[in-house]
Amino acid sequence: MEHLIEVKNLSYVYPATEEHPAEQALFDVSFSVKKGEFLGIIGHNGSGKSTLAKLLNAIIMPTSGDVVVAGHNTKDESKIWDIRQTAGMVFQNPDNQLVATIVEDDVAFGPENLGVMPEEIRLRVDEALKTVDMYDFRSKKPHQLSGGQKQRIAIAGILAMAPDCIIFDEPTAMLDPYGRKDVMNTIAKLNRERHMTVLHITHYMTELAGADRIIVLNHGRIVMEGSPKSVFSRVDELHEIGLDVPQMTELAHALRQKGYDIPADVLTIDEMAESIWHLK
Ligand code: ADP
Ligand code: MG
Repeated sequence: MEHLIEVKNLSYVYPATEEHPAEQALFDVSFSVKKGEFLGIIGHNGSGKSTLAKLLNAIIMPTSGDVVVAGHNTKDESKIWDIRQTAGMVFQNPDNQLVATIVEDDVAFGPENLGVMPEEIRLRVDEALKTVDMYDFRSKKPHQLSGGQKQRIAIAGILAMAPDCIIFDEPTAMLDPYGRKDVMNTIAKLNRERHMTVLHITHYMTELAGADRIIVLNHGRIVMEGSPKSVFSRVDELHEIGLDVPQMTELAHALRQKGYDIPADVLTIDEMAESIWHLK
């Protein structure tokens, strides 16, 4: 199976400054992401998620170990733009990501910088805006949009660069529930319909119910890895590292502790209803 991203024995130490002593944010992290995969990375605040995202996009360099994106080591400076084009990044704050005063100009900014021909840019911008369901907003000013709409414009801007993979670093953290839902639907659609490789970093467990695989980070180390069902069923361990599990999984856990024969990996209301129906 082809790997789009390979992270090998990655450690990162933030150097000491006048205000702070040196701080190690990642410890010997190794994993890979397959083409077409939806990989979720979860951890509480300060667990090293954003540090990892910055390393994947060659914004910072490993203290030790390697990050290889589409066959290019991030240490190879001549490949930085290939890496950023292959694996585009969407960040937490939508306001820091939009650069132009009109939505469609903003989406065109990436491909313009890549030297894409104007006719091709036109096609890519329209296609990207349609993909994120924001085509009707193409002539608007970004400040007229909601947070969720801005995030979808940021996603369109990355799509217009024709990446193989998008890395999302808590893209829903600053959004209201509606914005979160729209952005999550967009991400799921990119993965399912466009076969885009997705690395979704979040602290909301429910956003990862549909992931192919989840990696759990705690204090800069990988502490769990597996399918959503296998990870979510480890309720007590997740609580110990400050993470919540989906409500139905939580309920299943509580019922099991009371002696009810409910599977530990129940995720949805439908699965819970089904399990209760089968109780004797
Ligand atoms: P997360 O995104 O999971 O909240 P981060 O990767 O931002 O975690 O941070 C991981 C650790 O690295 C934290 O302990 C944080 O204090 C530290 N850290 C993050 N950014 C810096 C920085 N620029 N300088 C020094 N330490 C940092
Ligand atoms: Mg972060």
